[in-house]
Amino acid sequence: MQNSQIYKTISFNERITVIEEEGVRMFVLKGSKGALLVDTGYGGGDIKHIAHSIAKQDFKVIITHPDMDHIGGVGPFGQVYMHPSDFAQFRCKCSKKDIKVMPVYENDIFDLGDMKWEIIEIPGHTCGSIALLDRENRILISGDSVQEGPIYMFGEYRSLEAQILSLKKLDKMKDAFDVILPCHNMLPVKTDILPILIEGAEKLWRGELLGKPVDLGWTQTTRYDYKFVSFYY
Ligand SMILES: [Zn+2]
Repeated sequence: MQNSQIYKTISFNERITVIEEEGVRMFVLKGSKGALLVDTGYGGGDIKHIAHSIAKQDFKVIITHPDMDHIGGVGPFGQVYMHPSDFAQFRCKCSKKDIKVMPVYENDIFDLGDMKWEIIEIPGHTCGSIALLDRENRILISGDSVQEGPIYMFGEYRSLEAQILSLKKLDKMKDAFDVILPCHNMLPVKTDILPILIEGAEKLWRGELLGKPVDLGWTQTTRYDYKFVSFYY
């Protein structure tokens, strides 16, 4: 299949391009002095070619978290950035052993010239999940941790307790951003999703939500809905 059939590109604004592949989103962030590709999708096509055609400059690749819908396309890249708490999960899941992983930490800044992206640690969905914040333009890229869902909270490497703490951390920071760009479902979402996710996750943790069994094809789990958000847990 050709790249144009696999990937759909959407210009969010003059500096941010959204790339969609089968329900997951990547972002090309193009500044005056550099570019970032956030996540690599399933790897169904040549994501490097698509990203280069958008940015036309050298870019760094940053991974919000190493689930397969975010790291499937890392193959053509020699090096990727992610939080070190996710290194082990990345090595378990990624068959390309020659890819160099570089660490990012809280408050690290990727300076792209006229645009700066700051790393925010939000463990929970995975041990090293991160968000990226552009304080000047008031935009947060949230990976899978903030979205309408279902947010995957079952299985290895996940912690509902840590997820609740991370959601509360973002809620306290919400004066710094107006727009949230998640990797799945509705785009964009507003900051009013944060208190709903916190309430829902806390109710889930206390066992107060009624679940429905779900067959995902590759595994069985339970879906919990709360207002307009939902979780698999
Ligand atoms: Zn995902």
